[in-house]
Amino acid sequence: MQLVFATHNQNKLKEVKAVLPTHLELLSLTDIGCYEDIPETANTIEGNAVLKATYVKEHYGYDCFADDTGLEVIALNNEPGVYSARYAGPENNAEANINKLLLNLEGKEDRTARFKTTIALTSNGVTNLFTGICDGEITETLRGEKGFGYDPVFQPEGFVETFAEMTLHQKNQIGHRGKAIRKLIGFLSK
Ligand code: IMP
Repeated sequence: MQLVFATHNQNKLKEVKAVLPTHLELLSLTDIGCYEDIPETANTIEGNAVLKATYVKEHYGYDCFADDTGLEVIALNNEPGVYSARYAGPENNAEANINKLLLNLEGKEDRTARFKTTIALTSNGVTNLFTGICDGEITETLRGEKGFGYDPVFQPEGFVETFAEMTLHQKNQIGHRGKAIRKLIGFLSK
C-alpha cells in the first residue's frame, strides 16, 4: 500500500520510517513531485494537519497523512503552539526560535511544556485524526546535537536527557510523533 507522508522534512521521514510496517510504502512530497508551499493557514494544529493531508489528496490523488506539531509552554500561555515554526519569524529558523523561547522564559520558574503532534490521515474519502502528547520542560541551555527544531531544549518528563541527547529510537518510544504514529499504525492495521 502506497501512502504519502506530506513532508519534505528528512528528520520527520526518518522518525516515521523507523516505526512504519514494511508493507506500507512511504512516499514523501519530494517523491510525488509536490514542491509548492501547502497552505498552513488554520489556527489550530489539527486544522493545519487536515489542510495538508486533504491538499495532497485533492491535487495529487494519493491517500495521505500529514502531521502538525506544536510546542506548548505553560508559562507562555501555551505559546508558541500552532506558531512554533514561525515563532521568531517566517523562515522557521530553529536557532532563532530557541533563542526567543529562552529569552521569553527568563526569570520564569515554571518551565513545563508539552509537544503535541496531530496526524490527519485522508483515505477512502474520510479524514481521521491521531494525537500524541509528550510532557516535559524547557531547559535553561541547549544540550545535544541530535534531532531537530526545539529538541536541544526539550527534556521529557522522567528523563535527564533532552530529545537532542537521545537516539532516534528513544525519542520515538516516548515522543509525541511516535505516539501519534503508533495510533495511526493501529488504525491502518485494522
Ligand atoms: P511542523 O509540524 O513541521 O510545522 O513543526 C512546527 C515547529 O515545531 C517547527 O519549528 C519544527 O522544527 C518544530 N518541531 C516539530 N516537531 C518537532 C520535534 O519532534 N522536536 C522538536 N521540534 C519539533
